[in-house]
Amino acid sequence: MDYDLVIAGGGPAGLTAGIYGARARLKTVILEKLMPGGQAAITDLIENYPGHLEPITGAELTTKMKEQAKKFGCEIRTEEVTGVNFETKTVITNAGEYTWKALIIATGADPRRLDIPGEKTLLGRGVSFCATCDGAFFSGKKVAVVGGGDSAIKESLFLSKFASRVYVIHRRDELRAEKIIQEKAFKNPKIEILWNSIAIEILGDQRVEKVILKNVNTQKESELLIDGLFEYIGRIPNTSLFPVQKDHECIITDENMHTSVEGVYAAGDCRKKEHHQVATAVGDGAAAAMSAAEYIQTMK
Ligand code: NAP
Repeated sequence: MDYDLVIAGGGPAGLTAGIYGARARLKTVILEKLMPGGQAAITDLIENYPGHLEPITGAELTTKMKEQAKKFGCEIRTEEVTGVNFETKTVITNAGEYTWKALIIATGADPRRLDIPGEKTLLGRGVSFCATCDGAFFSGKKVAVVGGGDSAIKESLFLSKFASRVYVIHRRDELRAEKIIQEKAFKNPKIEILWNSIAIEILGDQRVEKVILKNVNTQKESELLIDGLFEYIGRIPNTSLFPVQKDHECIITDENMHTSVEGVYAAGDCRKKEHHQVATAVGDGAAAAMSAAEYIQTMK
């Protein structure tokens, strides 16, 4: 199938590129392996996306983006991109092949894992990467969250709605999260931060029962009894399929989202950049689609 603009990935960056691409009257398709919305769709409340005085759920915000893209004529297909050929300008999916005049890579990033004993066997049995999906199962129970960034602290606040206690296991003595989010966590009586600590093993028979912690200063080990453990230690970009220039798997672009390959752009969390917000992903998506439209115009 021939398209002007093929967009790999349907998170906020890809959906925004879809809106801008379709409005530029490009024949545009978004290929998304799961439901559109990406990581933002499984974020509980988004408070810093401009234009919303009240917090909006990630699901609602991204559903609106999807509907907006479709309204302007962007196609959205539930297909997994499995390969790419820059010679023939073709994206291969589990269901077909798509040729492009311009390609936008907006494949986002997946959660990074701790990779410690017990994590794999207890995944889905107390070990989780998604508080929005699994938080309600921990009503009245004790949970731990690993990490000190925005995701870890925001999701700790979300989990405190259900859990009786939320321990935040953080490897340093200072959080990385936005100050306004930190302040909320410090005020929350259910949240306790275990500083200078790392999780080294997760134990449990059928389900998570405890985590072994190590204090990085004293090297002392201790046990923490919990029912669930949520990991929020950053993300790994989904870029392995795309042979463009990268730095630690993050795609390098110029300020117009152009990659090292002509006619190929990248937007959102798969791109090398400092700030990973819905607002910045949206900006990337708009810039990538406008650059792609200008590039296609020059081909005529
Ligand atoms: P992040 O900002 O990279 O934070 C990862 C956290 O995990 C850091 O505190 C880091 O510790 C810790 N960590 C990393 N590897 C670890 C390991 N092996 N063991 C233990 N701890 C480890 O990741 P994120 O929180 O997922 O956020 C990703 C991006 O999305 C950020 O740019 C963030 O601002 C953005 N975001 C924004 C919002 C929002 O509402 N504004 C919400 C979610 C995410 P150190 O601090 O010691 O490095």
